[in-house]
Amino acid sequence: MAGGTYDFLVLGGGHNGLISSIYLAKAGFKVAVLEANKEFGGGTRSEEIAPGFIADTGGMVHNLISRTPIVREDELGLFSKYGLEYKFMESLCCSIFPDEQHLILYKDIDKTIEQIAKFSEKDAETYVKWNGYLAQLLGAASVGAVGVIPAWGPMQNVLSRSEMGMEFLRLMNSSAQQIVEEWVESEEMRVTLTRWCTEMMIDPRQIGTASLLSFTAALHAPGNPGAPFPIGGCVNFVNALCACAKDYGVDLFTEQWVNDITVEGGEVKSVRTKAGDEFIAKEAVVSTINVKDLYEMLGDDAPAREADYIRKAKNSDFVPLNQAFALKKVPEFKTGEQVKDAFCIEFAPEEKQYLRTFSEYLLGGFSPELPLITIPSLNDPSRAPEGCSVVNIYSYAPWNLDGDWRNWETKGDELKWQLWEFFKSRTTNITDDDIVARWGKTPLEYSEWNPAFKNGDIGQIGMQPSQMYDFRPFPGAGHKYHGDIENLYFMGCSAHPGGAIAAAARTGIQVVLDDYGVDFKDICKK
Ligand SMILES: Cc1cc2nc3c(=O)[nH]c(=O)nc-3n(C[C@H](O)[C@H](O)[C@H](O)COP(=O)(O)OP(=O)(O)OC[C@H]3O[C@@H](n4cnc5c(N)ncnc54)[C@H](O)[C@@H]3O)c2cc1C
Repeated sequence: MAGGTYDFLVLGGGHNGLISSIYLAKAGFKVAVLEANKEFGGGTRSEEIAPGFIADTGGMVHNLISRTPIVREDELGLFSKYGLEYKFMESLCCSIFPDEQHLILYKDIDKTIEQIAKFSEKDAETYVKWNGYLAQLLGAASVGAVGVIPAWGPMQNVLSRSEMGMEFLRLMNSSAQQIVEEWVESEEMRVTLTRWCTEMMIDPRQIGTASLLSFTAALHAPGNPGAPFPIGGCVNFVNALCACAKDYGVDLFTEQWVNDITVEGGEVKSVRTKAGDEFIAKEAVVSTINVKDLYEMLGDDAPAREADYIRKAKNSDFVPLNQAFALKKVPEFKTGEQVKDAFCIEFAPEEKQYLRTFSEYLLGGFSPELPLITIPSLNDPSRAPEGCSVVNIYSYAPWNLDGDWRNWETKGDELKWQLWEFFKSRTTNITDDDIVARWGKTPLEYSEWNPAFKNGDIGQIGMQPSQMYDFRPFPGAGHKYHGDIENLYFMGCSAHPGGAIAAAARTGIQVVLDDYGVDFKDICKK
């Protein structure tokens, strides 16, 4: 039997749960992390899918966390003390079009402009201006990602005082597609730009998606080291976090599925796990598990207004269908070798069909023609034996396949093979005989792999603007990281900026510590 009494209990041992526990322990609190799975990492993990072949099975690109002091200043010693190493790529992403032309977005703006000129001289000429425009908006777009989320009123007030702030408000109320249509003439360039915004798992024609367009400005920002991923697999990131947490005295528990919460006098007192263990929280509970599960557990103890919002919370427009292949060879693409400069190699149909595919997801349809390929072994030899490769084929898909999520049980494997066939058809040298091993998860399998990914949603709840900033997970709670139960905090995906390897808990935990009279700046010095 486990169980025990702690100052803080952290529910969920993904990267945000682990990061929360570290800062709390650094502040001198006694902390336990309760994780349902057999291993830590949640949405970002790795597996050896065949001897010597390491595949990332969840999140791969460490873009957002790399903008925080955890990476920039090695604030937790993950790199200097716990062996974490990143490889930084010169290019974040590229598109390959049906005619095998490609467009690569490099860190280097001049190289990017050369790529754009292949499709439109006008767009190539405008790109510096476009980048300048987005660079000015980048500060506003980063609110709540690196700094603490402001309350809605003050945020609108500050933004409305400057021209650029007002422009950001316009962007927040626009779709990515609308904004690129204002600036960009070439279809290929529009698809390349809006495609990255779909990482929000929302149709690029939905209001709110435009705010992610600033990713190109972040890419070209002076001092940006490039697109990062961990050497040896994301498991090394998780292992570094676990080692750091243990050094600060955090008790880490796996196979502790929390399924009951006791609330007395408007405060959380303890949680109980499926195994029947009771963990008592003297101060507070910090939750990184799915907020819908949390409110189900609270039952009648949940404040009615909050429970109503959580019940209504929307999911993403689409969810991931992801596979990893251990291959005897390194793929060669029909479009040429240059696309291997990019970490994310994205296939894209022509714009009309590309947009139609997103409409189809909402109706339960699927297309194998929009996969995102990563081959980390190209730039990290520790991930595959010499001459071989590990290829991830990541695709969007509907949760309700053909109108019902249960269809994933019967049709999932067929759709996985369709993606493989599509990938193969765009290479010059890959056949079925090259497969050493294959790993994959449908959205339904993902919801079992990580119980926080209910309905296959990798952000727990959707990242529509009505559920971001101070509205995440419900209106007015975002900036406080809690609702009316004051010692029950929402951290990680349930808070802005939602689902990503963003270390969002680093900002949230500053508010928690402040509530307990601890100055975060003092903690960082320790
Ligand atoms: C295929 C795929 C690709 C992705 N690619 C990227 C990418 O390239 N870049 C990026 O930034 N993001 C990416 N993401 C998203 C990103 O990985 C996640 O949003 C992120 O890992 C979430 O971290 P978290 O710590 O907030 O939550 P999680 O990692 O989901 O952690 C929550 C934890 O809570 C545990 N849990 C749930 N319920 C309970 C319970 N009742 N009791 C105890 N424990 C419980 C879960 O097991 C889990 O470990 C991707 C995700 C997937 C699936």
